[in-house]
Amino acid sequence: MAPIRLGIVGVGKIARDQHLPSIARNADFELVGAASRSASVEGVANFPDLAAMLDAVPDLDAVALCVPPQVRHALAHLALTRGKHVLLEKPPGATVAEVLDLQSLAAERKLSLFATWHSRFAPAVEAARAWLADARIDTVAVTWKEDVRRWHPGQDWIWEPGGLGVFDPGINALSIVTRILPRAIFLTGSTLAFPENKAAPIAADLIFSDALGTSITAAFDWRQTGPQSWDIEIATDKGRLALSGGGSRMAIDGSLVSDAPEAEYDGIYRRFAELVQNGASDVDVSPLVHVADAFMLGRRSVVEAFHDDAAAGH
Ligand code: NAP
Repeated sequence: MAPIRLGIVGVGKIARDQHLPSIARNADFELVGAASRSASVEGVANFPDLAAMLDAVPDLDAVALCVPPQVRHALAHLALTRGKHVLLEKPPGATVAEVLDLQSLAAERKLSLFATWHSRFAPAVEAARAWLADARIDTVAVTWKEDVRRWHPGQDWIWEPGGLGVFDPGINALSIVTRILPRAIFLTGSTLAFPENKAAPIAADLIFSDALGTSITAAFDWRQTGPQSWDIEIATDKGRLALSGGGSRMAIDGSLVSDAPEAEYDGIYRRFAELVQNGASDVDVSPLVHVADAFMLGRRSVVEAFHDDAAAGH
């Protein structure tokens, strides 16, 4: 089968760190173009925006959108309207409704839409899902605490409405939880801490339950210096499952049972090729629904202003 002719849109941190290397390693794709206002990719045709790329490369098959969520719907809509398969970085959009709109459009046009959740491709996630399938789950505790200055320097969009603030990493935890737990969960309460000079939260505490009344908590914080925490602890009748390192390691009652090398984006591109080849889509909005609910039910507090040293140095 001929490789899928792919264009990438938004050449920023994640495009460079993960998408370009994974595309280069996957023979099912041929990267033919890049669209970015201020950056370019060596060895392919570069364009200032998606519309210019679509005009100049009519035989493009698919696009990967690596732009911030606030501008993703318009680009995805344009690409689908022009007959291209679309891969969306996470979160798939700035609102739930706009993602559902894309899902209908893709179905109508018989195109593949892939709303990716990279953390679901972390190496221990499927093992955790299988282990939990027949367990009685007593409690779930998520701790997702990282240093925003280290991971998001100078990213102004992340603090704007639709940028999600601390939910930008927090939604990765929710994408794992919604994959590994055997039942649907729903939010029952949240508290959100907004820096006085920002439109998005720097910390959030969430409480969820499910049909059996299971206690599920999540603590997200962007003010964590020193060791970073991306952990999910689940107490069950079979023992205590700990998923750490963002889904990369799994331990049962303290004994490591899975610790494979990280290859999230290789997994994403394998799945995208499969979807395109089978004429299928993969769109699960549940992590975004939980974030929307957290904003809807959230009790808000205002905390100390946040100043991004990297942005100040621009
Ligand atoms: P980024 O470094 O800011 O890159 C995004 C790129 O999109 C920019 O370089 C920019 O390139 C382009 N862009 C187009 N319209 C824009 C606008 N209105 N404002 C800002 N940039 C715009 O961000 P990123 O970290 O790569 O994140 C992009 C997406 O990937 C986000 O949804 C994020 O959640 C997700 N993601 C990020 C990471 C990570 O580790 N950083 C990990 C997983 C997923 P031009 O200026 O050249 O057009």
